[in-house]
Amino acid sequence: MVGPILGAIGARSGKPNLYACADSNLSRLETNDMQVILAQPRGFCAGVVRAIEIVERALERHRAPVYVRHEIVHNKAVVDGLRAKGAVFVETLDAVPARALTIFSAHGVAREVEADAGARDLQVLDATCPLVAKVHIQGRQYAAAGRVVILIGHAGHPEVEGTMGQIDGRVLLVQDEREAEALDLAPSTPLAYVTQTTLSVDDTRGVIKALQRRFSDIVGPDVRDICYATQNRQRAVRELCRQVDVLLVVGAANSSNSNRLREIGAESGIPSYLLADGGELDPDWVAGARAVGITAGASAPEAMVAHVIDALRALAPVEVSAMDGIEEHVEFKLPAALAGGQNQRTT
Ligand code: SF4
Repeated sequence: MVGPILGAIGARSGKPNLYACADSNLSRLETNDMQVILAQPRGFCAGVVRAIEIVERALERHRAPVYVRHEIVHNKAVVDGLRAKGAVFVETLDAVPARALTIFSAHGVAREVEADAGARDLQVLDATCPLVAKVHIQGRQYAAAGRVVILIGHAGHPEVEGTMGQIDGRVLLVQDEREAEALDLAPSTPLAYVTQTTLSVDDTRGVIKALQRRFSDIVGPDVRDICYATQNRQRAVRELCRQVDVLLVVGAANSSNSNRLREIGAESGIPSYLLADGGELDPDWVAGARAVGITAGASAPEAMVAHVIDALRALAPVEVSAMDGIEEHVEFKLPAALAGGQNQRTT
C-alpha cells in the first residue's frame, strides 16, 4: 500500500491534489495500465515561490524592463514566462543600465556584486532565499571567530559563488570526501564548515565525517544547512523508489537539488532520469515499466509534472496516484518594498 508505508512520514491533509488518489494501492499493478506515483512533497519550495513573486510584483509595480541577475530560479519555463512579462535576465551587472531596478536571484550573490550594484546606483531587490542568507550569516560568524571556513558544495554553482563571496576571511571549497582528505591544513587548525543548501544529505554526512576524522577543532551545523525542501524531497524519493521501476525527475539540468534527486534514484538501484518536461521523455526509459515514479525539483512548476504525465499517456494508459507525505507550510516574507497585501506569516 502506498499510503500506509509513507504515512510514517506524515499524513497529507485534505488539500485537493489534481492527481490525488489517496487510497491508491499497488494492487492496481495487476492491471495493464502504467501506474504513475507522484512523490510528496515535490516541486516548488518557499524560496522559489518568494523569488518568482518578487519578480512578478516588481513588474506590476514598476515599468518593464526589470533586470534579473542570473536565472531567478533554475527553470527555463519559469524564466521564459517572466521574460515574456518584461524581465530581462543578465549574467553580470555590466548589462544593466544605471539606476535600473535589478533583482538578485534566489541563489544569492557575493558582496562584490552588492558593491558593484551600489557603485552603479542600481535599485536592488534581493530575492536571495532566506535559508541561503542564513548560511551567509553563519559563515561570517565562524570567520569572525577566527576559524577557517570550509564550504561543502559544488564549484561553479551560483549559490556557492555567492556564499564564498559573503564570508570575510579564508573560505575553502570542498566538494567531496576526497577533497576533504586532501586539504592542506594542519590537523589542529580551527575550522568550521557550512554547506550549500541543496546537497545530498548522505553525501554531505560523508564529507563532514571525513573532515572530523582529519581535524580536531572543527565545528558546524551537521546537515542542517541543507534546507527543509531539499531534505523533504530527498526523503520522499527514497520512499518512492521502493514502489516503482523507473524514476523521472522533473527539473532543469543546472538545478542542483533536481540532480541530487536523480542520483538518489540511481543509488536506490532503479533507472532514473532528469527531464525538463514531457518533450524530453524518451519512450525507452519507461518501456516495460509497470510503475513509474515522478518527482520534481524545488524550481520545477507543477505544470511541467502534468506535461510529463501527458507524455506518458501518449505511450500507454496511465493511472496516477500521489504518495502520502509531508505537506509543507513554509512561507517567506517578501522584501518590505514589495510586501503590501502579502500574508506576512513566516513559518
Ligand atoms: Fe531556499 Fe531550499 Fe528552495 Fe533553495 S531549495 S530556494 S534554499 S527553500
